[in-house]
Amino acid sequence: MHNTYKPLMLVLSSPSGAGKTTLTKKIQETDNSFKVSVSHTTRKIRPNEVDGIDYNFVSMEKFKKLIQDNAFYEYAKIFDNYYGTSKSSINSIIEKGYNVLFDIDWQGAEQLTSHKELNLLKIFILPPNIEELKKRLISRNQDDKSAIEKRLAAYTIDVMHSKDYDHVIINDKIEICFNKIKEIISTHLKKKN
Ligand code: 5GP
Repeated sequence: MHNTYKPLMLVLSSPSGAGKTTLTKKIQETDNSFKVSVSHTTRKIRPNEVDGIDYNFVSMEKFKKLIQDNAFYEYAKIFDNYYGTSKSSINSIIEKGYNVLFDIDWQGAEQLTSHKELNLLKIFILPPNIEELKKRLISRNQDDKSAIEKRLAAYTIDVMHSKDYDHVIINDKIEICFNKIKEIISTHLKKKN
């Protein structure tokens, strides 16, 4: 018999520092139908990160080779580094019957949207305001001053693209935001099945 279930491709995008990483982790912890897509990146590994779990950290040469080999579903250049979703990592999640959770930017979301056959659900998370974002970026103490400036400049462009998403949620209180995401997922699944 044919299995007609199309795995849900849930995309969470946001300006950095809006709490998306926390939300991504929470979703995976509380809903075991999801696996997070582990992207490839050329950015330097941060002290709290693990290669192969947070990202597959690769050189620029390796990343360019993967582009040439058409190995990515989508990729983008963000803050001087490349990020991409490899076809093989997604396929291995889907083959095991899981839904996929993507923590990718609007450029990646746009590329996935062009694959019309996907069961795609795109949610954009906004911080309450830019001052709040600034505070969060500084307090997580993970970027230097110029990196923070760059992230804030990208904020405006990110927000412009939020209109291309199915839902936009303001992350004022993480618990409330998380519950809204859960609600959106369950409504979407009811509609599709
Ligand atoms: P960070 O360097 O803070 O981990 O991530 C920076 C940005 O890259 C975030 O907005 C994140 O969502 C985005 N990102 C991470 N992986 C991918 C990917 O595979 N593709 C795209 N398009 N964006 C990604």
